[in-house]
Formats: sequence, structure tokens, C-alpha cells
Amino acid sequence: MSESQATRRKALSATSTSTWKQCQLKFRLIYLDGFREPPNPVTTRGTLVHAVLEHIYDYQAGMRNLETAKSLTAAQYQEMFAKDPEFQAMFTEESALNQWLAEVNSLVESYFQMENPQRLEPYARELLVDAETSSGIAIRGFIDRIDKAPNGAIRIVDYKTGKSPRPQYMEDKLHQMRFYSLLMRQAGRGVPARTQLVFLGDGKTLTFDPQPEQVDAFEHYLTQIWQQIEHACNTGNFYPRKQPLCNWCGVKEMCPVFGNTVPDIPEGAVEQLLTIHNAPA
Ligand code: SF4
Repeated sequence: MSESQATRRKALSATSTSTWKQCQLKFRLIYLDGFREPPNPVTTRGTLVHAVLEHIYDYQAGMRNLETAKSLTAAQYQEMFAKDPEFQAMFTEESALNQWLAEVNSLVESYFQMENPQRLEPYARELLVDAETSSGIAIRGFIDRIDKAPNGAIRIVDYKTGKSPRPQYMEDKLHQMRFYSLLMRQAGRGVPARTQLVFLGDGKTLTFDPQPEQVDAFEHYLTQIWQQIEHACNTGNFYPRKQPLCNWCGVKEMCPVFGNTVPDIPEGAVEQLLTIHNAPA
């Protein structure tokens, strides 16, 4: 597959497949129709913290301290808000903005209590990985950080700005780690020895050491998810699923469960989504 095809072709991601399991209609509106959920303080806080934790490693080890991180936070915040008026519109009161910035700084401080970036030399940061499953389904993901041990063992690290999940939500987090394990293997980078979710909200780390048979099982599971999506594309039936997360759904104003009208699927959108399995010639 050429580079231009790789960027043109649609692909499943950990987030899109997790959205599919959460609600088929939400998946359709975002990944088929192309609606974008508007930024909100929680997602924007995550974007800013991720930018700081990526760029702290631009500095020499001795400079990777809290002081540098705080100046990076200020610079990244200025850059993000200067280029997108939607960010500015989120805060109409200065007190709310100051509270939000205090939360960002607290999450960055939490990171420094969990890891010492002066002792780490990431192999990669914010790495875009493209691959195909053995049955030809395109998969893609941005990996926050990859560490490589002297013996070549790989550790995938993903930062979360929320708290570690309660037991009933654990499966969703494992889904992401399994997805990344498959993605790395299929990209020819090897099955990671360890995957880690770092929850800055409560200072806890969730670790999963994937075994080859678990990666095989997940690949099979992902194929089943794709078959469900393909079936929905062919029938046009994407069912809404009312649940507590509806309160935070960014496409709720197009959801019939709440008395709203679902728009028609845009022309050509189904064909483009199906490139996930049928790569363009
Ligand atoms: S509001 Fe709920 S049911 Fe409707 S699309 Fe969003 S997640 Fe699905």
C-alpha cells in the first residue's frame, strides 16, 4: 500500500470501535457522516495535557522538570486557543477558565509524581501506526509513547486525564490496550511486552501484558465488529442505544431517542467507509 493510499483509506481505530460498541448511531454520525463532536472542557483539557507530555521530551533530560512543564503548558495553551475560536467560546467567564487551567496544571503535576521523565528516553511519541489485519481490515492508531528496553522489549504507554475505571468500565480500557497490541503486531513492530494506561486523574496505572493468543483472539473479535459495521452499511440500519453516556454525547441533537431528526447519510460516505476492508485500487 502506498503512502497516499494509507492516508486516503479509512481505518478502524480503538476509539471508533469502542464507539461502535457504545452506540451504532453515534458511530454512524461521527465516522460515516463525518460530524465532529464540538470541543468541550474535558476533551480540550486532555488535548492540552497530551501536548505537554509529548513535548516535555523535546528537552534534554536535565530540563524535564515541573518548571519546564508549566511553561510548556502556558505556551501550548496560547497556541491552541489562538488558532481555534471554538476553544475560546467554551469559557465565557474568566473564573471558569482559571479553574480549568488549574486542573490542567494539577494533571501535569500528577504525571511528575507517577513518572520521572528525566530517567526515560522514549523510542517514539505520538506515533501514527497504520496496519491491516490478516483478513485485510485497515487499522490505525496514534500511540502516545513507545518505550524500548535494551533487550528490544516494547512498552506502549497511553495517558488518560480521567480517573482509573470502575470494574464495570474496565473492559473498555482493555479494548484499547488489546487494539494497540494487535496494531503493533500487524505493523511488523512486534507484540508489545507491556501496555500501560496512566491515569493522571487518580495517579493509578493499568497494566496489560498481552500474550500472542490474546492478540489472535482480539483480531477475531475485531473481524466480528467489522462484519457488524459492514452489515449496517449495507442495510442502512444504525441503531441508537440510550445509556448514561448519552448525557455527554456530542451528536445528541441528531438523535431520535431525544426527539431529534437523523440526517440522511451523505452520498458516497458508505463507499468510503467500506474502503476499510476493500482498499481503493
Ligand atoms: S444520544 Fe445516546 S443514543 Fe443518541 S446517538 Fe448519542 S449515544 Fe447514541
